[in-house]
Amino acid sequence: MKIGIVGCAGRMGRLLVAEVLAGPGCELAGGSERPDSPALGQDVAVLGGGQPSGLKVTDDARALFAAADVIADFTMPAATVFHAGLAAETGTAMVIGTTGLGPQHQAAIDILARKAAVVQAANMSIGVNLLLGLTAQVAKALGEEFDIEILEMHHRHKVDAPSGTALALGKAAAAGRGVDFDAVAQRARDGHTGARRRGDIGFASLRGGDVVGDHTVLFAGEGEQLALTHKATSRAVLAKGAIRAATWVAGRTPGLYSMRDVLGLA
Ligand code: NAD
Repeated sequence: MKIGIVGCAGRMGRLLVAEVLAGPGCELAGGSERPDSPALGQDVAVLGGGQPSGLKVTDDARALFAAADVIADFTMPAATVFHAGLAAETGTAMVIGTTGLGPQHQAAIDILARKAAVVQAANMSIGVNLLLGLTAQVAKALGEEFDIEILEMHHRHKVDAPSGTALALGKAAAAGRGVDFDAVAQRARDGHTGARRRGDIGFASLRGGDVVGDHTVLFAGEGEQLALTHKATSRAVLAKGAIRAATWVAGRTPGLYSMRDVLGLA
C-alpha cells in the first residue's frame, strides 16, 4: 500500500510519515508541501525521524497523487479542497483530517468525493469516535431539561475554534436530540448575552501550552450534571488512526466515509 503525505513537514505530516514507515504493509509514496515551504527538497522519511529514503519533498502534488494508492491530508482548508480535486481527477483514495473547513470547502469536498473514496474525520482517535456515539445516545436519553455545553482545550498553535472535534460532538448531540445543529449552536459568548436559551448547545474554547486535545461534553440539569470527557495525551494516536483509515479506504468505491465506518461503528 503506497501512502503519500501532503503537508508532510507539518506537525501531523511528520507523525504521518513516521506511522507509514512503521506500518506493516505500508510504503511511503512521497510527500508534498506548499511551494514556499523551507522543507522542499528535504528527504521525506527523515522528516518523520526515519533513515534517508531518496524521496524528496515536492510541491508537485499532482505527481504525488499519481504515484500513491492513498493520500493523507492534514493541511489547510483551501489546500485540502485543491487536493480533493486531484483525488477526483486521479481516482486516488484520500484521508482528510484538516479542520476549520467552511461550508464552501465542505460542499466542494462532498461533490469531489463522488469520484474518489474519501475518509474525512475531525478526529481520528478511537476514543473520540466512541465519545461521538455516546454523546448522541446521552443527548437523546436526557432531553432538553439538560443543558449541553462542550468544552475543548488545545495547544497554543491551533488556528481554528471551536475545534473540529467539538463541532462534531455538538452535531452528534443535536442529532441525538433530533434538532438542527445550526439553529441551536452557541459558538461564542461575550458581554450581556441574556439568559441561556433552552435547547442551545454551547461551546467554550481554551488555548495554551502543548495540550494535544481535551474534550468534555457536559450535560447540566437541575440538581445533577453528567460529563463525558476524552483526553488525548499523544498526537501519535491521531496519526495511527489516519493510517488505519488509509489502509481501509484504498480501493473502496468512491464516496465520503467517516471514521465510524473505518472502525465498524457506523
Ligand atoms: P501544521 O501547520 O503544523 O501543518 C500543516 C502543513 O500543511 C504545513 O507544513 C503547511 O506548510 C502544509 N501546507 C499548507 N498548504 C499546503 C499545500 N497547498 N500543499 C502542501 N502542503 C501544504 O498543522 P497541524 O497541526 O499538522 O494540523 C494540520 C490540520 O490538521 C489542522 O487543520 C488541524 O486542525 C488538523 N488536525 C486534525 C486531526 C484529526 O485527527 N483529524 C488531528 C490533528 C490536527
